[in-house]
Amino acid sequence: MDHKTILKKLKLSIQLMELHDENPFKIRSYQSALTSLERGDQDIMSLNDAALAQINGIGKSIIEAIQQLKVSETFPALDSLLEKTPTGILEILQIKGLGPKKVKTLWEELGITSTHELMEACQSGKVALIKGFGEKTQDTIIQNLEFKASNSGKWLYADIEEAIAKLESALKNLLPKVQLAVVGDFARKLEIISKAEILVGSDQLETAKSGLKSFDEIEWVPAESGPKTLRGKLKDLDLKVTVHLCTAADFLWKKMALSASKHHLTGLVDDTETVSEKLKKNDFSSEEEFFTKNGLQFIPTEMREGFGEIELAKENKLPELLQDADLKGILHNHSTYSDGKHSLRQMAEYCKSLGFEYLGISDHSRTASYAGGLDIEKVIKQQAEIDELNKELAPFKIFKGIESDILGDGSLDYPVDVLASFDFVVASIHSILNMDVKRATERLLRAISNPYTTILGHPTGRLLLRREGYPIDHRAIIDACAAHQVVIEINANPWRLDLDWRWVRYAMDQGVKLAINPDAHEMDGYADMKYGVLIGRKGGLTKEMTLNALSGEEIAAYFAGRKAGLR
Ligand SMILES: [Zn+2]
Ligand SMILES: [Zn+2]
Repeated sequence: MDHKTILKKLKLSIQLMELHDENPFKIRSYQSALTSLERGDQDIMSLNDAALAQINGIGKSIIEAIQQLKVSETFPALDSLLEKTPTGILEILQIKGLGPKKVKTLWEELGITSTHELMEACQSGKVALIKGFGEKTQDTIIQNLEFKASNSGKWLYADIEEAIAKLESALKNLLPKVQLAVVGDFARKLEIISKAEILVGSDQLETAKSGLKSFDEIEWVPAESGPKTLRGKLKDLDLKVTVHLCTAADFLWKKMALSASKHHLTGLVDDTETVSEKLKKNDFSSEEEFFTKNGLQFIPTEMREGFGEIELAKENKLPELLQDADLKGILHNHSTYSDGKHSLRQMAEYCKSLGFEYLGISDHSRTASYAGGLDIEKVIKQQAEIDELNKELAPFKIFKGIESDILGDGSLDYPVDVLASFDFVVASIHSILNMDVKRATERLLRAISNPYTTILGHPTGRLLLRREGYPIDHRAIIDACAAHQVVIEINANPWRLDLDWRWVRYAMDQGVKLAINPDAHEMDGYADMKYGVLIGRKGGLTKEMTLNALSGEEIAAYFAGRKAGLR
């Protein structure tokens, strides 16, 4: 049991209490306890009863529940709730936009207890007829069900990274004499991973195989396995595992072949042969040698996507990719002024302690009331606090920013005199997300043409595996950013990774800079920047085209120059 799982189980029990109409006071007390725990800094696993009792909103019964969760992964009240809930209902509860109240109505009125039944009821139009639902809700449910079905068994790279690293080291311990590497989509650092793929190279294949079969963290599926491939599933996660076996002599070329995408492998290296055909010759002893021998510049593994990289490598035009250490500051961050967990001072001091030269604070703007958006008075107060902190922390610098909501008509969220008080403005869409491509694009184009917009935030609003973004005309948006010198964010939160890496090269070619922004809502959030760097590298991002690779002085001049040149 860990901190996150305990929070998840508490959340589930709240949903189930609502579903089964339990005492509203009890539900509220659980809810406020959960909120306190989520907001707090401490790992629940490290807190004893006395420490838990100190936390706002945590009473005796919740402390007991937490203690039981730590030991037995459940607690009696949750057990009895689960007992009276069909498992299909639990699945339905996870569908976005369907709260416990709606799920209860569906269950009572239409007898729906599985996602399959729910889909049928939606398709026959029955759901729309229920009071409080309507056509629109029905369409949304269908969309979300389809989205969920197409995403089951898939993981965010960041969520599966640790499990795959552990698997790799466990297998290396188990088979110390073989060559072993993680291959597949994970090796290319794709944003979404649907299986762990491992390559084992050895001249004692049978020994390696029986070793693997004895590994009890994987449930092997013999029916799907062959003489040179073992397939199964990690027991404690819904993650498929494929182990490929080859001779020691084949290891290198197999590793390269299994780590590249199909499009890369079918790409032509010269007039006659593809990458795949060249690899099969197995006439090289290192990856570098393979590329040199075939007249190509070295292509880093994460770029082997078949996305134009071979052509660039032929012409020696692959850029030198951005690295973590190139980032000199962190833009787009939230504090307790809006919906962040840590104060402005904490966010600044921690940023400085990590060795960065500057921090860009951009809390939510006033229309984002759900996220504690700043009214004008609060903006003034925050800017005064920034001035004080800047005196204290110099030469470290906090830049005054805002994440301004892009309103329905594409305008920004404050009058011009307030907008003019910021060093930079991140413009983002957070509301009215169901737009068609024309409307979404026009809304963004208007925001981009606003002279106060410095950075376009998470351009599509997507949440990977959870919600499709609104459709946008990427070319039109990027071209407009070029025309108005607006920087595009690569939101580094692993759920977002938006701008998508597939558009990075086009943006750079138009002269549009990108910013690797963690959108941190707490100090730990800064760590997400590494995912932004990974995804930027996949798209070919360079240090020169990255806004926050500028030094503190350079970016201060950049912001000042933009403001001076307001059109
Ligand atoms: Zn945002
Ligand atoms: Zn944000």
